[in-house]
Amino acid sequence: MPQQACIFCERAKPLVTITREHLFSRWIDRILTPELLGPDRSFERTAAGADGVATSKTWPTEVIAAIEAPVVCGGSADGCNGGWMGRLDGQVEQLLEPMMLGKPRILSPEEQLTIATWAAMKSMVLDYVWEPEQVIVFPRKPGRSCTASSGLPRTRRSG
Ligand SMILES: [Zn+2]
Repeated sequence: MPQQACIFCERAKPLVTITREHLFSRWIDRILTPELLGPDRSFERTAAGADGVATSKTWPTEVIAAIEAPVVCGGSADGCNGGWMGRLDGQVEQLLEPMMLGKPRILSPEEQLTIATWAAMKSMVLDYVWEPEQVIVFPRKPGRSCTASSGLPRTRRSG
């Protein structure tokens, strides 16, 4: 299902180009290496079906780390992918990398909000890619809108 408009700002061609976003940021795979985690690195996803029964699937990490979803706009100065999404990803990398490597730290409320925003962003991208098995349920189309200043999905239209 090719995405015709950006899932965050809802702009489409010719205003923007739809670009690919990694499901999981490349920096995660760079930090959590086979040397650190061992040769059996894997990705597990547990999803509840319509019947409420949870099932889990496991993939090699390399498979998941390579997945890119063409669902967000980019290629322009105000594109989501290279704009607020890239800035948010960079901020979270700085916050999480030391913790992922085992260094404890205290996160300020602002830092917690930054990480939560990033997690929501990644969940929304996931939602569009793995629709039948989604873990977190968001309203489907028409998408969400966001503000360029915060990157936070602010409102959702129903239906
Ligand atoms: Zn956009």
